[in-house]
Amino acid sequence: MTAFGQSGSSLPQHHGENGFINTDPDFAEAGFSEMAPWILKKLPGTFADGEKAEIAREVNDGTLIGSGKPYTATWIGHSTVLVQMEGKTFLTDPVWSSRVGPFKWAGSPRISEPGMPIEKLPPIDFILISHNHYDHLDEASIEELVDRNPNVKFFVPLRVRDWFEERGIRSVEELDWWEGASFGGLKIVCTPAQHFSGRWLGDRNQTLWCSWSVLGTKRLYFAGDSGYCSHFANIGKRFGPFDLTLIPIGAYEPRKLMRPVHMDPAEALMTHRDVRGRKLLGIHWGTFILTDEPADDPPKRMYEAAARMQLPKDDLWALKLGESREW
Ligand code: ZN
Ligand code: ZN
Repeated sequence: MTAFGQSGSSLPQHHGENGFINTDPDFAEAGFSEMAPWILKKLPGTFADGEKAEIAREVNDGTLIGSGKPYTATWIGHSTVLVQMEGKTFLTDPVWSSRVGPFKWAGSPRISEPGMPIEKLPPIDFILISHNHYDHLDEASIEELVDRNPNVKFFVPLRVRDWFEERGIRSVEELDWWEGASFGGLKIVCTPAQHFSGRWLGDRNQTLWCSWSVLGTKRLYFAGDSGYCSHFANIGKRFGPFDLTLIPIGAYEPRKLMRPVHMDPAEALMTHRDVRGRKLLGIHWGTFILTDEPADDPPKRMYEAAARMQLPKDDLWALKLGESREW
């Protein structure tokens, strides 16, 4: 593996001297002096119990998942989606915990129950991890999934494999942007995103963040966490059109601070257009309070933006927690 700090023009542009970096020429992160007051304001909430939010949900009776249909998607909550695709079953960024953060008592509390209990999942073939933030890489969920699916394989961006090895989990393939792997008949490509990483002090951007393109007869795109950026048009050019996109529509306020690293619902639609998506499933909302917008705001804003952009509403899904659809 390439080490940081190596000189030479052969290093990819996103491998910086002291960690990974965002490469879009328009990228400008909020500075510490702007960020600090907002973090201080949010701090008490990281110790409190979250107030439950009214996010629509339905009981998933397993009918569609058990039907043998080749393409289904089920929203579990936040960025966790259960996908069936051409005989394979996978999860994106699986999180079932009631709080996400460095300690059981500190972090963002869950404000809505998972759409399906972890025990009710069908057997899982592989899991895609987009980056190591606590709301995407959750220790308790990973350990439970490995217990239940001893042969499950993980696909992770560069330098995230160590976290798994520390926990004795060895079936992990680590990829850089634009690298691909095969799983059964599917090709799984690690594609760029504009974000950051870190789980504790001093590890900022030491591990890579990414999106994932899953290519079979049909194609699925999972955006991970990202600001709106020029990578998406590239991904669309190389791997689009995508039959289904999983794109974040939440964690966008205050815009001034979040814009570089979290898209808003209108930008999610632009991302969907850039990657050449057909149907969109909005993720990363209604589950953990991370930012300032109300918990149920993202889908409303998405449909307002869709009307302005004259996009067909039926192709843009804000699913109920636990809801499955064919795609
Ligand atoms: Zn993140
Ligand atoms: Zn996130």
